[in-house]
Amino acid sequence: MIENLTIEQTSKLLNDKQASALEITDIYLKKINTAKKLNCFITVSEDKAIEAAKETDERISKNKKIGFLDGVPLAYKDLFCTNDILTTASSKILSNFTPTYESTVTANCKDQGAVVLGKLNCDEFAMGSTNKTSFYGPVINPWKSIDNEDELVPGGSSGGSAASVAADLCVASLGTDTGGSIRQPASFTGLVGLKPTYGRVSRWGTVAFASSLDQAGPIAKTVEDAAILLQTISGHDNKDSTSSIRSNENFYSNLDSSVKGLKIGVPKEYMSDDLPEEIQKFWNEGKKILTENGAELTEVSLPSTKTALPAYYIIAPAEASSNLSRYDGVKYGLRVKEKSLTEMYESTRSEGFGDEVKRRIMIGTYVLSSGYYDAYYIKAQKIRSIIKNDFDNVFKNVDALFTPATPNTAFPINREETDPVQNYLNDIFTVPANLAGLPAISIPFGLDNSGLPIGMQLITNSFQEQMLLNISKNLQDTINFNNRPTQWWK
Ligand code: GLN
Repeated sequence: MIENLTIEQTSKLLNDKQASALEITDIYLKKINTAKKLNCFITVSEDKAIEAAKETDERISKNKKIGFLDGVPLAYKDLFCTNDILTTASSKILSNFTPTYESTVTANCKDQGAVVLGKLNCDEFAMGSTNKTSFYGPVINPWKSIDNEDELVPGGSSGGSAASVAADLCVASLGTDTGGSIRQPASFTGLVGLKPTYGRVSRWGTVAFASSLDQAGPIAKTVEDAAILLQTISGHDNKDSTSSIRSNENFYSNLDSSVKGLKIGVPKEYMSDDLPEEIQKFWNEGKKILTENGAELTEVSLPSTKTALPAYYIIAPAEASSNLSRYDGVKYGLRVKEKSLTEMYESTRSEGFGDEVKRRIMIGTYVLSSGYYDAYYIKAQKIRSIIKNDFDNVFKNVDALFTPATPNTAFPINREETDPVQNYLNDIFTVPANLAGLPAISIPFGLDNSGLPIGMQLITNSFQEQMLLNISKNLQDTINFNNRPTQWWK
């Protein structure tokens, strides 16, 4: 009975008193235990989960259930600070860090009665597209190709957030997306992943990677669940001055799947001969569905698309190098004891950070250094403005954009990697929305010839998440993707 539940279904089970929150939580804790091979969880917060489930049951017995999330087992990327629960950002440097405060997004879920099962593995400080940069080892994708037994990456950086939902170890999860880290893993695991408009969601208490790009968002099995989570975590927060003062919206109740009369743009710069045929096929199918369901499709141009990736890989490391300067062994986290203060800083940072994080810090400090600042950082910022202008122009004529989410499906964990740029190319379709601060979603469309999930992306104008969710629901209801990975990990 309690298999592959959505938030909506879990909530209904509880309302109908077909199961207690404690029973449901217990089942999930057991499932997590049998799926250690997937390496999704860094910390399982069993005691806290049981306590929260009991509180839900108490409320239900008094007819005081709070809402959809009450009693629903969720899990969070280990980038969200959780009071009294280890929070590592998948880094050795934070491997002993237990916050005494709660991030705003997880606090919002808690206030709605959600049960926190634990903290999910991710790329170190959210830098990566494979989950292989984690200090705690890679997450394994629950999906396997029908051609061989290779273990596949779940995507990254929110790899644990995606794999855990796909393997049904939690009902839904939260991730963060700086350049694609919610949408790419959602695409690799057959799930819905939504990156909100920059400012829609508070960043307070979320370990910072690149502050002008980072946004938290849901990874879920359905568009409805993504809507429920989005409205839970959204809204102004006095503790984050970049969070928007707009009032929150009821995305779930306002879901309306009609696309009649909507104009949807297909950017020609996203078309390429390198795009695998199967991805192209589903892209075409999506265009056909949208047209048949009453939308008007037009080709549009975003001329600066090809400059997005290089600009991102200057801006994100620049901000990261500044954000990560706080990890010096003094206030919190790892401290390697040395004779002098300078040696302590040096040894703490060189032992505490992994290779990819060091690479980003070095690139970041280089592009910010005097002499190179104008040539790299300022230039990248100018490109960022041009990219935003491109989007502003197309959104004068269309309501949404429709593109593939990723240029490939999940690949083997042990794929030979000679050049980090090979991984950076994973973000080619996702990064532009981050640079422009726009909301974007990946929704599952089908399987490739090897049986692996393919996701498509929708992008709308700022704060048009309702439209994003509505079009997604239209596609979801027409496609009816209901494939699940076959369980091999027990
Ligand atoms: N893969 C991208 C990177 O490595 C995006 C990461 C993210 O969105 N957190 O920077």
